[in-house]
Amino acid sequence: MNYYIVNRNATYNPGYHHEVHTQEHADSLGVSDRINLGWFNNEVEAVNFAKAYYSDADGCKTCCPRAHKG
Ligand SMILES: [Zn+2]
Repeated sequence: MNYYIVNRNATYNPGYHHEVHTQEHADSLGVSDRINLGWFNNEVEAVNFAKAYYSDADGCKTCCPRAHKG
């Protein structure tokens, strides 16, 4: 399992989504304005959960490739 977060700031990615990252990747990117989503089995579950906060939530292509739509 991984711990996932969603970026509250939608401007720092090419598609202007609210991106979901693993905590580890968010830390390495310096994403500080975040909502902690919690532990999930995979990024697909984490992004589905994040959609409760942001309907445009999308997986980061680096750390959440199976949930990355663009
Ligand atoms: Zn990421």
